[in-house]
Amino acid sequence: MSATTSADTERRRQIVNVILPPMKDVCIGNPKFEKIDKGWFKGCGYTTCGGLPAYVARELGLQPQVARDGLNIGGLAGMRNAAIKAGAWQHNETVLRNLGRGMGLEPRRPKPGDFYMLCSGDRHDTGCNAICPEKKEEQHLYKGAKVEHVGVILDSNGPVWKTMDAGQDGPDTQCVRLMTRNFDAATGFMTGERGREGKPMRRLCGWLDVDKYPFLKFAEA
Ligand SMILES: [Zn+2]
Repeated sequence: MSATTSADTERRRQIVNVILPPMKDVCIGNPKFEKIDKGWFKGCGYTTCGGLPAYVARELGLQPQVARDGLNIGGLAGMRNAAIKAGAWQHNETVLRNLGRGMGLEPRRPKPGDFYMLCSGDRHDTGCNAICPEKKEEQHLYKGAKVEHVGVILDSNGPVWKTMDAGQDGPDTQCVRLMTRNFDAATGFMTGERGREGKPMRRLCGWLDVDKYPFLKFAEA
């Protein structure tokens, strides 16, 4: 499963080679799934995809003041909020992407171990790069696009990526699966989650750079 190389940091190698493999193909009903999500039941109205980055975050260790930012809980917008607060959010900005491509530069992409997010609809460039309200009564103030999915990058080389994702095989169950996703470097879009109409292409909203986040374990010297 490993797609890390000696050029990757120890933290990235740990995520891809040690932390994620025991969760592959674990589904609800397996006691191991409690590390992903304890509360899901059929018809509860959410998917468990956020539970996988949260599990990785807990394995890497969080300082108490950082844990309050919510990275360990599994909320999707909470993951991005925590990343923005820590200066670890890498936004897949459309204008910069197009400018770079115009100059012949290969756009940035996440690396193995990073937590990625997919979004859809308008307001990505103006709203997805800011902290979004967490209180229920303030959520109508959210200025970003719709958050569709989060997961963890295993291999982001070339046009076909490998990711590890919770929230799979629904709606009757929830599983962690190794996924293959097409990435279109020209648009910054990639294969999204299976819905009623197949697997639509979704915008890569951005990612949490795990090397930039202040996890307790496997920090670079
Ligand atoms: Zn977005």
